[in-house]
Amino acid sequence: MKKKRHSIDRREMVKQLGLGSASLALFPFTSSLNFSDPKKLGVALVGLGNYATRQLGPALRHTQFCELKGIVTGTPEKKPKWQKEYGIEDRHCYNYETFDQLANDPAIDIVYIVLPNFMHAEYTIRALKAGKHVICEKPMGMNAQECKDMISAARKANKKLQIGYRLFYEPHHLKLMETSQQAFEGRIKLIEASLAFDMARPGLWRIDKKMGGGGALMDLGIYTIQAARRAAGSNPVSVFAQAYIDDPELYKGIYGTYVYQLRFADNTVCNSTVSFSAYSDRLHVSRGNEYLELQPAFAANQISGLDTWNGEKETLEHAEFQQTVQMDAFAKNILEDTPVIASGEEGLIDMQIIDAIKKSIDSKKSVVIDYS
Ligand code: NDP
Repeated sequence: MKKKRHSIDRREMVKQLGLGSASLALFPFTSSLNFSDPKKLGVALVGLGNYATRQLGPALRHTQFCELKGIVTGTPEKKPKWQKEYGIEDRHCYNYETFDQLANDPAIDIVYIVLPNFMHAEYTIRALKAGKHVICEKPMGMNAQECKDMISAARKANKKLQIGYRLFYEPHHLKLMETSQQAFEGRIKLIEASLAFDMARPGLWRIDKKMGGGGALMDLGIYTIQAARRAAGSNPVSVFAQAYIDDPELYKGIYGTYVYQLRFADNTVCNSTVSFSAYSDRLHVSRGNEYLELQPAFAANQISGLDTWNGEKETLEHAEFQQTVQMDAFAKNILEDTPVIASGEEGLIDMQIIDAIKKSIDSKKSVVIDYS
């Protein structure tokens, strides 16, 4: 059997964030990032859609180590609004044809790819070739091979790559990960992680097979997979999956609802449902009759209710925008030349699991996950 690639190194993360493990519960992230003369790195957002407009732009108003300096948009009408709102100069505005000219713009250090999934690999690699550090939104690529190409491009360019995994830096998730791994010394019996929004509609790129790559599995499945890996403290060895179409007019070549079971080497099991035709947002980790639970567990900036082993609910102090912490952590990785926690390697593992889920659906059999 191939050697298992291991998941997140919690100790490294705590070290990077400047935290003692006990203080993970208290969220001192940004205040712990204590630079006497912080140089703010310039960020260019690529693709000014929903996520860039509602979350990333506003989150960048609060960052200490990076700031919004540039935009890349294919919709000229969006440009003046963004320029006015964020004080972005004309010389830092690009479209998809002029994108590669970012190479000649020293004000831009980080390019943040917020495009539909099928464009992630291409624009990440082009930005790396332009000599920029890159944050790429989830899912990292359309399949594991694209992720490998992106990682190679980052190595070749000697630039850093982060995946937009905001929950890698979120206090409730950090506490759950820490508690579940400690309490079981890495052994957990049952995990349930599900995420579903009733959001499919005609024309949505997320349900177009070529643009989204697999509907809810690509868009939402990634969260459940990460949660399972982080709660278990290891990577699953196999998966058994099924999928359903409730509306054949909407779902062409993809499914509306995906149900899958991840199995870990120690017999820990994670059951998940992801769907664009229902609602769920829940992470549950149990041992015997004791459990940890987050609900809502994944939606941006809405996480609440950490039920601990003794049943007490805790709400931890958290930033207004999870993305502020995520982007500042990346900027600090660049400034201090430290490893990225939500790395391309993490994105690749998640895509290898997604590739195996798709194989299991097609073959109707349990599939051993290929981490090579
Ligand atoms: P939207 O559809 O709202 O925005 C995508 C933007 O990409 C468009 O507005 C457009 O911007 C640009 N674009 C360029 N080419 C195309 C094309 N052919 N079709 C459609 N859009 C195009 O998507 P979201 O903002 O919701 O999602 C973008 C990415 O962010 C996805 O990968 C998604 O998975 C991720 N995401 C991550 C979240 C998280 O919590 N981490 C939450 C939500 C999304 P322009 O007009 O400026 O060119």
